[in-house]
Amino acid sequence: MESNQGNTKTKMAALDGFTTHPIPARSAVEQAAHEDVAVQLLEQWNRVRNRLQQEVGDVEYRTWLRQITLGSVDGDEVTVHLPTRFLRDWVRGHYADKLNALWQSENKRIRRVDIRVGGIGVSVAPSVAEPDDAFRPDGTVIEVAATVKASERSDPRAEASRPEMAAPLDTRFEFDSFVVGKPNEFAYACARRVAERPSSPGFNPLFLYGGVGLGKTHLMHAIGIELSRRDTAPIQVAYMSAEKFMYRFIAAIRSQSTMEFKEQLRSVDVLMVDDLQFLIGKDNTQEEFFHTFNALVDAGKQIVVSADKSPSDLSGLEDRLRTRLGCGMVADLHATTFELRISILEAKASRAEAEVPPKVLEFLAHKITSNVRELEGSLNRLIAHANLFGRPITLESTQEVLHDILKAHDRRVTIEEIQKRVAEHWNIRLADMSSARRARAVARPRQVAMYLAKQLTSRSLPEIGRKFGNRDHTTVMHAVSRVTELIAQDADFGERVELLRRMLES
Ligand code: ADP
Ligand code: MG
Repeated sequence: MESNQGNTKTKMAALDGFTTHPIPARSAVEQAAHEDVAVQLLEQWNRVRNRLQQEVGDVEYRTWLRQITLGSVDGDEVTVHLPTRFLRDWVRGHYADKLNALWQSENKRIRRVDIRVGGIGVSVAPSVAEPDDAFRPDGTVIEVAATVKASERSDPRAEASRPEMAAPLDTRFEFDSFVVGKPNEFAYACARRVAERPSSPGFNPLFLYGGVGLGKTHLMHAIGIELSRRDTAPIQVAYMSAEKFMYRFIAAIRSQSTMEFKEQLRSVDVLMVDDLQFLIGKDNTQEEFFHTFNALVDAGKQIVVSADKSPSDLSGLEDRLRTRLGCGMVADLHATTFELRISILEAKASRAEAEVPPKVLEFLAHKITSNVRELEGSLNRLIAHANLFGRPITLESTQEVLHDILKAHDRRVTIEEIQKRVAEHWNIRLADMSSARRARAVARPRQVAMYLAKQLTSRSLPEIGRKFGNRDHTTVMHAVSRVTELIAQDADFGERVELLRRMLES
C-alpha cells in the first residue's frame, strides 16, 4: 500500500510536466485504463486519508485512525479496515460520517463507507474504466454497516450554491467558532469584510498566510459559509485546495475537457484556493491558476488564497503570480499567544460540554504551543478518554493520556540556556551560576535557574547540581522549594520567573 502510494505520487507529479502532449483516450488502451482507475481510486483514498488527518488533527488521527486501510471498492461502496474490533467500533462511532463525506467529495459515486475489522491489502479491481471517476463493481459482496449519508450532515444552503467541482464546506468552521485574539484579529477582520462585501477594492485578492494549524482553512470555510447564508442573490462559491485544483486540472487534460474545466472555474463569484504553496514547482498548474485568477479578478470576482508564507516569500511561484497575489489584502495569522490558546481551549471545552479544570487548560496551553489543530486534538483526546472510562479529567490523567504528545513537545531547553537567560535577566555573570559566591544578588538568580532547570528539563537533581558548580542535590532541592515559596509570596518575583519560563519555552 505504501509503495503504491509512492508510485502514484510520482506518477501524478510527472504528469504536470506533460500537458503539451496528447494523452491517449482511455478506451483505446484497456490495460492502461484499468490501471488508471485503480490509480485514481488510490489517489482518492490517499486524499481522503490526508484530509481526514488534517481535519481531525494529528493527535486524534494517530490515536484512532493511523491503522486504517482501504479494503475494497465495489460499485458505490468502499470498505475500509481496522485491525481490532475496538478500533472499528470507535471509528464507526466517531468518524463514519466524516469518512463518508470525504469519500463523497472525492468521488461522487460513493454512497457508503463500510468500516470493518480486516487485514491489510487493497483490492481495487475495476474491469473497465470510464471517464470521470467511473468504475465497475468487482463483484464482492459487502455487508452494510455504519453508514451516514454525507448529504444528511452538510448544510443544505451551503450545498445549494456549491459548484460541482468544489469541495464541500465544513460547517464547523464558521466565524462564530473562530476565537479571535491579537495574533489573528487582522486576518479575521479581513475575512469578515470579504464575506460581507466580496470583491471590494483593496480586498481582492485576499491573501491569508501563516504557519500550520493557525486557522487559514477555518477562515476560508467561514467566508464560504457566511456567503452561502446570505439572503441576497445566491453567490457561487468554490473552495478547493491547491492540490485538488491541480488534480482537477490534470484530470481535465486527460479527459480532454480543459475547456469545461476553465468555464466552470470562471463561472464562480468567489474562488478560494487553499495552501497555494503546493503549486511550487508545478509550472503548468501555476500557469493555469494564473489565467483563472486574472480572468476572475478582471470580471470583478473575489479570490481568496492561503499559503504558508507571504507572497514575497513564496519563492518558487512565478514572479508575475506573486506580484498579483500581493496586490489586494495580505493578512498574516501570527503564532498563537498563551492567552489565545487558553481562550481557544475554553471555547472548545465548552462547545464539547466537557468539564476541564482550568489547571489542565493552562497546562495544555503551556505545552502545546505550535499549532491549534494539535491543541484541539489533545483536548479531544482527553475528553474522549474521560468519556470512555467515565473518569474526570485531572492534571495527572492529562499527563498520562497525552504522554506521547507531551514528550514530542518537550522543548529540550538546556541547562546552559537557562543559566544564560537567567544571568542576563538579573545582570550577573554567567560564571556566577557555578561560582561559590553566596551573596543574595547571585544566589537568588542561581536558585531560580535551578528551579527552572527542574521544571523545564528532564534532568535529575544530582545532574542539575553538577551543572551548577558541582553542588549537591539537596542544594537543588532547597532551591526548588525556596523559589516555589517566593513565587507564592511575592507577585513581582513570580511574574519575573513566569516571564523567564515563557521566554525559554518559546
Ligand atoms: P491551517 O489551515 O492554518 O493549517 P486550520 O484552519 O485547518 O489551520 O485550523 C486547524 C484547526 O484549528 C481547525 O480545527 C480550526 O478550527 C482550529 N483553529 C485554528 N485557529 C482557531 C481559532 N482562532 N479559533 C478556533 N479554532 C481554531
Ligand atoms: Mg489549512
